[in-house]
Amino acid sequence: SHNLTVRELADLLNTPETDIIKSLFFKGIAVNITQSLELETARAVAEELGVKVETPEIKSAAAKETEMLDAADLDNLQTRPPVVTIMGHVDHGKTTLLDSIRQSKVAQGEAGGITQHIGAYHVDIEHNGNQQQIVFLDTPGHEAFTAMRARGTRVTDIAILVVAADDGVQPQTREAISHAKAAEVPIIVAINKIDKPESNPERIKQELTELGLVAEDWGGDTIMVPVSALKGENLDNLLEMILLVAEIEELSANPDRLAKGTVIESNLDRARGPVATLLVQNGTLRVGDNIVAGSVFGKIRAMVGDRGNKVEAATPSFAVEVLGLNDVPEAGDEFDVYPTEKEARVVAEARAEQQRDSRLQQAMSSRRITLSSLS
Ligand code: GDP
Ligand code: MG
Repeated sequence: SHNLTVRELADLLNTPETDIIKSLFFKGIAVNITQSLELETARAVAEELGVKVETPEIKSAAAKETEMLDAADLDNLQTRPPVVTIMGHVDHGKTTLLDSIRQSKVAQGEAGGITQHIGAYHVDIEHNGNQQQIVFLDTPGHEAFTAMRARGTRVTDIAILVVAADDGVQPQTREAISHAKAAEVPIIVAINKIDKPESNPERIKQELTELGLVAEDWGGDTIMVPVSALKGENLDNLLEMILLVAEIEELSANPDRLAKGTVIESNLDRARGPVATLLVQNGTLRVGDNIVAGSVFGKIRAMVGDRGNKVEAATPSFAVEVLGLNDVPEAGDEFDVYPTEKEARVVAEARAEQQRDSRLQQAMSSRRITLSSLS
């Protein structure tokens, strides 16, 4: 969401700017007409001027996701791979599961490909006689959810909830369920560590029933797959189930347009400069594109895939590391591609200015509080 300037608020309320400046002045806030206001401040002014302010309904994740698509995309939708996040309590086997899926699938593919940490992995799977793909996000599930949910972005299509069959439902299991439910993301349960003699999958189903996840063989509709991440047991079945859910969800996007999506990781690399992993959620991202991510911009100089491979174009659901940004964007920031470098620069600079303004505003208001608390 975006803060309003005094001028924009005046336009919106159809009121002279001076009335707004006056009203703020009496609240002890000195502003000029180009300054941006915190939404709460803007609301207080509007209400004082007799305008009722309605809070927009909080959009559901599903509604938010369709915002990645414009009306023009609807004629050109194509199936896209599911983007999957692995969640669950610490030590229940999330890392082992991702590693063993990656190992078994990468080994079959490009031999000798060096896997590189980019925050996401692409896995190729033979399904119904077709070659299909699944994209796994490798950011700690609940972090990804909280950071991105705070910004209202939805990056995950399916959540894999890992529950160790020898340990059962734990605090982070519950947390993971509530995050996935809040984001309206379908959950597949991987009941892990079934190789352990003390494992008890039926007890896990029982415990999950109490949390509203009822296994199919218990008369519910939650897919639960017993696996051993360590021994690689039944992983093919889990991957099949992911593709099945993806089919039901009818995931689609329009590859024939300028890309947009979300930053999933970023850092400043000493040798390469600002580096960001971008998840493409619509359109196709290409080397040479002019991109804005949050308040940073740049012309994409190079893109790197999860096997350290050079990538020229990334289609929907794929994640790539990009080089060429002027600064480090934040995980959770949305990105867009603009036709010209100039447009990208203007958009990014306007956003950066807005951020500086609201930081300044915050600094000012905290100073006011300090001063008044002194008196
Ligand atoms: P995370 O914290 O959820 O990422 O859990 P890890 O993947 O790091 O696994 C925690 C521990 O459980 C490690 O010692 C793993 O070797 C072990 N582990 C994970 N999956 C299995 C499994 O299927 N069977 C057994 N026996 N051990 C497992
Ligand atoms: Mg781990």
